[in-house]
Amino acid sequence: MKILVINAGSSSIKYQLFEMPQSVVLARGIVERVGQPDAVLSHTGNDSNIRRPVQAGSHQEGISVILQALADPQTGTVEDIRQISAVGHRVVHGGEEFTDSIRIDSHVQESIRRVADLAPLHNPPNLTGIQAARQALPDAVQVACFDTAFHTSLSPAAYLYGLPYEIYEKYRVRRYGFHGISHRYVARRAAVLMNRDKYDVNLITCHLGNGSSITAVKNGKSADTSMGLTPLEGLLMGTRCGDLDPAILFYLSGKGYSIDQLNDLCNKKSGLLGVSGVSNDMRNLMELAEKGNRRAKLAIDIFCYRIRKYIGAYTAALGSLDGVIFTGGIGENCPSVREGVCSDLTQIGIQIDSDRNRAAQPKERLISSEKSRVKVYVIATNEEAAIAADTYSLAQA
Ligand code: ADP
Repeated sequence: MKILVINAGSSSIKYQLFEMPQSVVLARGIVERVGQPDAVLSHTGNDSNIRRPVQAGSHQEGISVILQALADPQTGTVEDIRQISAVGHRVVHGGEEFTDSIRIDSHVQESIRRVADLAPLHNPPNLTGIQAARQALPDAVQVACFDTAFHTSLSPAAYLYGLPYEIYEKYRVRRYGFHGISHRYVARRAAVLMNRDKYDVNLITCHLGNGSSITAVKNGKSADTSMGLTPLEGLLMGTRCGDLDPAILFYLSGKGYSIDQLNDLCNKKSGLLGVSGVSNDMRNLMELAEKGNRRAKLAIDIFCYRIRKYIGAYTAALGSLDGVIFTGGIGENCPSVREGVCSDLTQIGIQIDSDRNRAAQPKERLISSEKSRVKVYVIATNEEAAIAADTYSLAQA
């Protein structure tokens, strides 16, 4: 069965075509600068790599560009786009309603629209992607996979803020958490690697990329997670500040910052970029720190320190810990961050093996020492494969 996975953002549409159930990627690509006159398609598949300007003034046009590329007689992968049996869509926010991936009908589409208020930057482009795919492939099963769904198992003690309860009742202000497709994927892979039932493991999963979050997984279910109402809370990120005393915002507002400026400051100008003053990219910061750049080193130190703090807190929240997983661009590729996070944690049973940690392959590997009570793994995330798997099982149901 051919399944197309679509991740529609505000100005780009990423896609991968899978052959299921083998989970083989037949083609992949991205349409960038959607909505602008200079949109570009990059497409890989059928032994060819293409990069060319395309007409994608809207998401609708962007989706037709993708379908044309997939069915191109020379460089395409399918003879006819009707061979695509199902489409899996990444949707950032599913609110409290969507506890799992779901087949999309008009009712589901309407519910995604209703929660868009909680994710104004993400859900609207996700929805336009859904609309466009439903129109272009009316016979294909359409499935929505939510970044929040894995975290709907949080207890009220973990998801409620200390605000008046009416704020939750009236406005649904609570912790939702994000990156759930990735946290769930690596947690399931870890259970396989540990030869344990997926509902019989307590894990801490660290998704460390440009956006970063950490999740406590108790008996295979998300029990707590660092991102909150929005992806701003928690760890230090590429450009987001993460945890903050909320009174800082009132204080800065008194100094003349407007709401929009504060929003911009916390989301786009803080984090690794804000602290270092030079870059949000961990690779650059590593190089600079090695050359003696003090603020680059400071940004990395804060990044690692906060992850350590969460690991301590989540170990207590879980009661007992079987494994820690590192994933995401930084989690998978940056041994010194893993070392910075895990050094001197023997008292909670975590001890990484320096050689294993420095090895670059395979994509899934144990990096803890034989003596470590807690197993530490690097597991490359694969959100697209997870979406394809959910879409496949719902399309068959
Ligand atoms: P996103 O959240 O945008 O999906 P990624 O998961 O791709 O981000 O992670 C991007 C981050 O991963 C960047 O900070 C980048 O510098 C970092 N990264 C990628 N490869 C390496 C590497 N080899 N060493 C250190 N950091 C890396």
